[in-house]
Amino acid sequence: MMAASSSVAAAFARAPARGGSPRDSSSRREPTRPHYAAATRSIRGAPIPRARTRASKLRSAARRDTAVRAVIATDVDREIERDARDADARGADAAPPNRVDFLVIGSGIAGLTYALEAAELGDVAIVTKDVAYMGSTHYAQGGISAVISLDDTVEEHVRDTQVAGDHLCDEDAVKVVCDEGKDAIEKLIEFGTKFTMNEQTGDLHLAREGGHSKHRIVHAADMTGKEIERALLESARAHPRVTFYEFHVATDLITAETRDGSFKCVGAEIIDRRSGARTSFISCATMLASGGAGQLFPSTTNPGVSTGDGVAMAVRARADVANMEFYQFHPTSLYTGPGGAAKRSENENAFLVTEAVRGHGGRLFNAAGERFMERYDERLELAPRDVVARAIDCEIKSAREAGYEAACVYLSVAHLPADDVLKNFPGIAAELAERGVDMTSDKIPVVPAAHYLCGGVSTDLTGQTSVEGLFACGETACTGVHGANRLASNSLLEAVVFANRAVKASGVRFAGRDALEPVFEQAAEAARKRAALRMNAAKKDVDEIAAFDEPPEWTSAMRAEVQRVMWNAAGIVRDTETLKEATTKMESMLEECEEKSRGADARLASIELRNLLTVGLCTLRCAASRKESRGLHYNVDYPERVETERKPTRLDTASMWNAPSSVHPALGAR
Ligand SMILES: Cc1cc2nc3c(=O)[nH]c(=O)nc-3n(C[C@H](O)[C@H](O)[C@H](O)COP(=O)(O)OP(=O)(O)OC[C@H]3O[C@@H](n4cnc5c(N)ncnc54)[C@H](O)[C@@H]3O)c2cc1C
Repeated sequence: MMAASSSVAAAFARAPARGGSPRDSSSRREPTRPHYAAATRSIRGAPIPRARTRASKLRSAARRDTAVRAVIATDVDREIERDARDADARGADAAPPNRVDFLVIGSGIAGLTYALEAAELGDVAIVTKDVAYMGSTHYAQGGISAVISLDDTVEEHVRDTQVAGDHLCDEDAVKVVCDEGKDAIEKLIEFGTKFTMNEQTGDLHLAREGGHSKHRIVHAADMTGKEIERALLESARAHPRVTFYEFHVATDLITAETRDGSFKCVGAEIIDRRSGARTSFISCATMLASGGAGQLFPSTTNPGVSTGDGVAMAVRARADVANMEFYQFHPTSLYTGPGGAAKRSENENAFLVTEAVRGHGGRLFNAAGERFMERYDERLELAPRDVVARAIDCEIKSAREAGYEAACVYLSVAHLPADDVLKNFPGIAAELAERGVDMTSDKIPVVPAAHYLCGGVSTDLTGQTSVEGLFACGETACTGVHGANRLASNSLLEAVVFANRAVKASGVRFAGRDALEPVFEQAAEAARKRAALRMNAAKKDVDEIAAFDEPPEWTSAMRAEVQRVMWNAAGIVRDTETLKEATTKMESMLEECEEKSRGADARLASIELRNLLTVGLCTLRCAASRKESRGLHYNVDYPERVETERKPTRLDTASMWNAPSSVHPALGAR
C-alpha cells in the first residue's frame, strides 16, 4: 500500500493556500521555469518534512546502488522500486514497455497538429481515451481567429486579446499567437481543411465574434472544429510514422530524476479500456494534449472525455500549473430544463449556440421580454463572454426574485431574414429544429455552461512545461495567451501555433536523444518491474484490470457531488467562505476516492473522478488566493480589480510534492 503521506489527497491537505515556506533550496528539481511563471502570484505548499527525509535516505541508498546509474530515482514510490529489485522470476514474463520517439496524449487539434509535425522527425504514438475524434475540437462551431484581412492588423488582434483577458495575458505569448495566426491557417489548409470561402472575392470568408474589433474568424460554416478534426485525422491516419491507440487512457506520467539533479518526463502509464491491459510508453518527448475539464461542472459544453486528466497528471508529476481560477462559462448554451428545448438524451452535454449568432446580430432578452445587455455593457451582445455570462446570471436571479419562473434567458435572430440565418447557421438550425425550436422565428432558451479552461499546465513559448521532456498545448496548457478570459476563437489558434512551436523544441531534444538513452533504459526497466510486481500481487499471468470501463457503483454519486460543490463555489459568482468550505469538502472527497479506488475499483470512472477532484482543488486554491475580481473570476468579497493582484496565479506543485509517487494508489504495485 502506498503511504498516505505520498498521496495526492494528503499533499493537498497539507499545503496552505498562500505564503508557504519558500521552495527548499535543497529541492531535488532544478526547474526549467516557464517564462510565464516569471512574475506570478505563487501559491506554494509547505514542504512535507517526513516525506523529504525518507526520500533523501532512499536517494542516498540509490546512489550507492551500482545497478542504478543514470536514474537515481523515478516517479514510482521508492517502496515499489525496492520491491521491484526483489521481484521473482515472474518479472521476466512482464511485457516490456513500448518505446517511441514522441508520445502524444490526446487527438484533438493540439495533439494531431503536434503529431503530424513531429512525424517528420520520428515515430509518433497517439494515445487517445475514446474514438479518435471525440474531444472538444469536434464540437467547435464558430471558428478560428487570425489576421487575414488587409484592414486588420496583428496589433489590433493583440489588443482585443488583452482586453478580453482583462490585461492579465502574457504579452509575448499573445504576440506570438497573433503574429503566427496566418501561418497556422495555412498549415490547416495544407493538412486538408476546407474553410468557407467568400463567394464574391474567392478569399477566405471572415466572420466576426464578440470581443473582436474586426472580421477575423476563419470558419467552416458553423462546424469548424468538425472539419478541422476530419482533415487532421485523415492526414495523421495516412502518415506512416503515426500509430493510433484509440480507447487507451493515460493514467500517469512517468518521471525520472537524473544525477545532474534535473527532473524529466520519460513517458506515461497507459491502460487499454477494452481489455483493461496496462502498459507503459517510454518516450523522448511527451505531449500532453488532453483538452479541458468541463466535466467538473454539472452543465458543460464539453464532451465526456474532458475530465482534466492532463492537468491532474501534470500536478502529480509536479509540473507547474497556473491560472486555474479562470474557468470560462459560455453564456449561451441551450437550456433544456423545464420549459426549455427538448433533450436528446438524459446525460447529454449542453448544446452550444455559438458566439457567432450574437456576432451576426443575435439579441438577448430576459424573461420579461426586455433586451437587457444595454444595462451591463455598451458593446451589448458583443461584450466579452464573462460580461455576458454574468449579466445572464444576474438577470435569471433577479427575475426569480421578482417572481418570474425564470431558469434561462432567450437569444433571438427572428428579426433577421430566415434564409440568411439558415445559410449561416445550418448546423445549429438543424439541431434546434430537432429539439422543437425554429431558429428563424422562435426565441432560443439559453443558459451559461462550463466551456473552457483558461488555466492549465504552465508552459513557455515553446510549449515546454517546468518538467523537462514534458510539453503541453491546447486546452490543457496555460501559455499565458488567454489571461483572465479567453477571446472567442483564440483557442483553436493557440493550439495550432503552440503545437508547431513545441515540435521545434521537441526536435532539439530528439536530436540529443543518445545522451538520454541510459535514462530511457532505466525507466523502461523500472516500468517492466512494476508490471511484474502487479502480476505477482494479483497472481495472474497478465497485467490487466477486470471490467475497467464499468464504473464502480460509488463513483456516480461522488461525481455528481463534485459537480454540485464546484458549481456552488467556483461557478460564475464566488465568495470566500464558500470557496473555503468547498476546499475542505473536496480534500476529504479526494481522500475517500483514493481509498475506495484501490484494488478492483481502479477503473476508468474512479481514475477520472480522482483527476476531477485534483483539478477542482487546483481551481479552488487558485480562486481562494486571488483577492480581487478579474476576468472570469468574480468574488463578491473582492468585487474590484486590484492592480497589485494583476499577476497570473501559479500553483507550485513541486513544493507540495515532496512525496515521490505520482502513480495512482490502485495502479501501483500490490
Ligand atoms: C461546443 C464547443 C464549441 C467551441 N467553439 C470554439 C470555437 O468556435 N473556436 C475556438 O477557438 N474554440 C472553440 N472551442 C474550444 C476549443 O474547441 C477547444 O479548446 C479545443 O478544441 C481544445 O483542443 P485540444 O486538442 O486541446 O483538446 P480536445 O479537442 O478536447 O482533445 C482532447 C483529447 O484528449 C483525449 N484525452 C483526454 N484525456 C485523456 C487521457 N487521460 N488519455 C488519453 N487521451 C485523453 C481526448 O479523448 C481527446 O482526444 C469550443 C469548445 C466547445 C466544447
